[in-house]
Amino acid sequence: MSESKSRPVALVTGGAQGIGRGISSALLQQGWQVMVADIDGEAGTECIHLFDSLGKVAFHPVDVSREDQVKELIKVTNEKLGPISLLVNNAGLANPYTGALEDLDLTTWQRYLDVNLTGVFLCCKYAAADLRATQGSIINLGSTRATQSEPDTEAYSASKGGVLSLTHSLAISLGPDVRVNAISPGWIEVGEWQKNSSRYQPFHSDEDHEQHPVGRMGKPDDVAGMVLWLASDLAGFVTGQNFILDGGMSRKMVYKED
Ligand code: NAD
Repeated sequence: MSESKSRPVALVTGGAQGIGRGISSALLQQGWQVMVADIDGEAGTECIHLFDSLGKVAFHPVDVSREDQVKELIKVTNEKLGPISLLVNNAGLANPYTGALEDLDLTTWQRYLDVNLTGVFLCCKYAAADLRATQGSIINLGSTRATQSEPDTEAYSASKGGVLSLTHSLAISLGPDVRVNAISPGWIEVGEWQKNSSRYQPFHSDEDHEQHPVGRMGKPDDVAGMVLWLASDLAGFVTGQNFILDGGMSRKMVYKED
């Protein structure tokens, strides 16, 4: 076995942009081989060039809601890198706002559930054999919106609620071989982590930062740090859990005076 083959393999869905790009980069820097899987080919190709010097990285295009494509992804990952030790289910339709309930059409509702929830199920199903064999782990991206809401976010919130339930269900079914946990981010700014053609310089007010007890908004690196810990032996006693990663935002009580 070559040296690169002996390094553990991580599969990061939606790994080409945003939080997923940050996770892929951090895993590579910690010696993982990484399969970046994403529906956006332009972003994926860009990542391969960007990450080339960091370690062994591959890209495969996939729509995680398509069973045939997920099956192929797992096969290609094995052929190119080896059996999967870490599956990060990060791909998702990340815009929570789908408009007023009365105008929310079934196609939109279904697409959020297909990508954000069914996609997680499919990736877990087809990576399970690898993960059992490697005694690996799964990390699912939930959201604080699974347990609290703004108006007009029904499809997104419901999909993320499903991800949290799926997480503890999988932890019981796949244990003791595979640990399964969820990270629920709050407000993570991803503008600078998009592909070149859609990257933007974010602007946020003092108020945006100050509503976080830590004094700032989140970054993809914050999520990546928790992924590294959950994937490591340091978290060997941790499974079936949901970790809220929001700078304390959801713990802050807000009173508005008239
Ligand atoms: P993003 O839009 O910046 O990145 C998402 C990536 O997933 C993109 O590269 C996109 O091409 C890919 N993708 C979308 N649909 C796909 C599909 N069907 N198959 C494969 N890839 C697909 O989003 P982000 O903000 O980085 O969010 C990443 C994850 O974190 C999502 O699951 C999101 O719901 C969750 N999350 C984000 C925040 C936040 O504030 N950014 C907060 C809570 C949860």
